[in-house]
Amino acid sequence: MAVSPRRPTTVVDVGGVQVGGNHPVVVQSMTNTDTADVEATAEQVKALARAGSELVRVTVNTEEAAAAVPRIVEKLDKDGIRVPVIGDFHYNGHLLLRKFPECARALAKYRINPGNVNIGRKHDDNFRVMIEAALEYGRPVRIGVNWGSLDQALLTRLMDENARRAQPRDARAVMLEAIVVSAVESAGAAERYGLPGDRIILSAKVSGVQDLVEVYRAMAARCRYPLHLGLTEAGLGTKGIVATTAALSILLQEGIGDTIRASLTPLPGGDRSEEVRVCQQVLQSLGIRNFAPQVTACPGCGRTTSTFFQEMAGQIQTYLLRQMPVWRKERPGVESLNVAVMGCVVNGPGESKHANIGISLPGTFEDPVAPVYVDGRLLRTLRGERIVDEFVEILNGYVETRYGSR
Ligand code: SF4
Repeated sequence: MAVSPRRPTTVVDVGGVQVGGNHPVVVQSMTNTDTADVEATAEQVKALARAGSELVRVTVNTEEAAAAVPRIVEKLDKDGIRVPVIGDFHYNGHLLLRKFPECARALAKYRINPGNVNIGRKHDDNFRVMIEAALEYGRPVRIGVNWGSLDQALLTRLMDENARRAQPRDARAVMLEAIVVSAVESAGAAERYGLPGDRIILSAKVSGVQDLVEVYRAMAARCRYPLHLGLTEAGLGTKGIVATTAALSILLQEGIGDTIRASLTPLPGGDRSEEVRVCQQVLQSLGIRNFAPQVTACPGCGRTTSTFFQEMAGQIQTYLLRQMPVWRKERPGVESLNVAVMGCVVNGPGESKHANIGISLPGTFEDPVAPVYVDGRLLRTLRGERIVDEFVEILNGYVETRYGSR
């Protein structure tokens, strides 16, 4: 089954990264450092960018954070990290953007949450001020609704309208509708204040997979703005990764989504870049974008006598990832390479033949030999202590021949 064509959207330029249209789905992430801490935040942005995050968002919640933003961007520039930094604003964004013009200028995009900028009340003053800042500094915005901070005035209005219907819908349906309406109406208000449609990205995040799918399908049908996908508060560990993957995969398969983020909760001291790798793996598993060579490995079973093949699969994956910074520049196309490392002859040779290059290690009671297949044909049979080293040599030779040199 093929992925559906992407839905047609406008294209938004975010600090030189194109979002929407036929441009590749963009991977983004968000820091969890105190933005006022210039060193720590710049280091985390760097780590996220090096992991492959193409946009990085930082929270701008205080005057100290707003004052730190230009210094963070300057430090990144000095260190040769070219990644657009996005400001995440809530409640006081209108004040901070006005009071800290250097911050407004340093940021590549502003994220506005319509649930906490008094849109629809008090003449939308705060929202309008943020849109005016986007106009003044020539920046795009993401209007990002989150069900945890949904515009309560709007929800009340839709609940009242629903109550007057001959056949009222259930409260969940009205709430999901309110999320979509909040995003679409806020974008309309931004355009009325003068912001061109090709400077607006929308998102509407909820934490339930089915709710998210419903919301984004509705939003995709009602507008042509690029959509930022993400399951909010996805959670810890396996739950967070699986729920994110499930939600994003359904929508991406339908051609919905122009930029994605995995909102994972890292363990204390855990690696924030995990959220970048998850996004990349979702896109690569769906065949939408390739980021790094993939290792196909069997799970192992009672036919394997030791953990040797699992260790080898791990070593090969680590080797490939380590080579990528150099290969990305010198071996264009290598990110689509597929390597199979299999535990025995039951599925080993078959899987190896489907990969670019594959090895099938000996299982229980099998001859201690490891046939290597290249582009579907048996190349050599390895044996002895140097199986891993010799396989890596064959792999390097294959990469050099197949992907040439720039
Ligand atoms: S390929 Fe062999 S070792 Fe791997 S899971 Fe299948 S039967 Fe078990």
